[in-house]
Amino acid sequence: MYELKEKVALVTGASRGIGRAVALELGRHGASVVVNYHQNEAAAQEVVQELAKLGAKAAPVQANVADPEQAKALVQAAVERFGGLDVLVNNAGISRDRTIRRMSVEEWQEVLRTNLDSAFYCVSAAVSHIIDRGGGRIVNVSSIQGQAPNAGVANYASSKAGIIGFTKVAAVELARYNITVNAVCPGFVETDLIAGLSDEIKQQLVSRVPLGRFGRPEEVASLVRYIVTEGDYITGQCLNLNGGMYM
Ligand code: NDP
Repeated sequence: MYELKEKVALVTGASRGIGRAVALELGRHGASVVVNYHQNEAAAQEVVQELAKLGAKAAPVQANVADPEQAKALVQAAVERFGGLDVLVNNAGISRDRTIRRMSVEEWQEVLRTNLDSAFYCVSAAVSHIIDRGGGRIVNVSSIQGQAPNAGVANYASSKAGIIGFTKVAAVELARYNITVNAVCPGFVETDLIAGLSDEIKQQLVSRVPLGRFGRPEEVASLVRYIVTEGDYITGQCLNLNGGMYM
């Protein structure tokens, strides 16, 4: 078992949705948590306050992880604030759905930079610090869309399939340093990311889920926490959590 007390976790995009739930779950299990956000400072502060109520040390750090310099500064801030880094959760993500015929170059690049390039930036900045601690955990948030995508998500699906490939290579490269690297692939989860879908689309999507409902952020957070605390012998995997939507 990987004990989270005395460990430092950095969760990107932790102000809302899945990242928020992961930050709270890791804090509940004893980690000190760096709550990264992009624009929503008030929400990040609220997560830090929730963590304090759970007895966890926490700090909000603003950074756009799609920018390599800001990602590096984020990792540095985490190390300076809590004296090291053990766990990195690459969760920050966006969608800009459009068919390939209508998708702009900007929409393609913004999603790839935010969802995929950011993981490379954060991992490459974090690795030497995690090695300094004798090893640790990296969890990347992918998606069912990287495995069995719908139409209209070429940018998003490519970023999430890319995360799976990146996870496997990082797992091979970092195993010798006692660092496990895994991905989680959620199906549809009730967060702001899907709040904008019409009721009709939501109904269509739910009808494709054998368990008959969307997932909850806390369910993804439990899986991430399980990988971190129980996953000594789990690396290079993509763990699915999708209500049976993709098998
Ligand atoms: P939300 O839209 O609810 O939250 C997104 C989070 O990412 C926010 O904290 C936001 O910060 C942050 N963020 C966005 N862009 C950046 C950036 N450039 N730099 C730093 N932080 C950023 O999304 P979800 O919680 O739904 O999604 C989280 C992850 O889970 C994403 O990678 C998503 O692709 C993935 N996922 C989601 C699914 C779903 O159905 N919801 C299903 C499968 C995977 P701020 O609040 O400051 O804007």
